[in-house]
Amino acid sequence: MSSVCFIADGMLGSLARKLRIFGFDTLYYNDVEDFKLIEIGEQQERILLTCDKILIQRAMNAGISSVLLDGSGDVDDMIHILRNYKINFVEFLPENSRCPICNNILDRCDKNSINKLIPEKIFNIHERFYLCKQCNKVYWEGSHLKKLREFGLFVKRGLNDTS
Ligand SMILES: [Zn+2]
Repeated sequence: MSSVCFIADGMLGSLARKLRIFGFDTLYYNDVEDFKLIEIGEQQERILLTCDKILIQRAMNAGISSVLLDGSGDVDDMIHILRNYKINFVEFLPENSRCPICNNILDRCDKNSINKLIPEKIFNIHERFYLCKQCNKVYWEGSHLKKLREFGLFVKRGLNDTS
């Protein structure tokens, strides 16, 4: 997995969740002042992601790495970030995912250990479950996976398209 990690500004919630799901360590706050984002980026050597030109200028002045996104869509933004840092795209793999809510690494868990945390219907039809030990949320390989794999394919296609 790539060692780069990110901090996304308050406008990029959807992108931040996707980055986490695809395994990138990404901090995201929707209620934090610009100076704090820069401070955390600096302390933790995180790349700042934003659509805000003023914030980019401040980040550059503070000497932290940053990417100005145009916010036209998560696919384009993701391609832009990966290209910028020459990161090879990684396939979507649940075992590499981070919790979209809190950014913690997910652990594959025994289904019988989490039976009280999920609806019985879900428990009965799925076999693979992943637990976030930080926020206690359980994930399973449901229908949203198809959408994520599609998202991954669009990004991959975009990365390969050099025209
Ligand atoms: Zn979590």
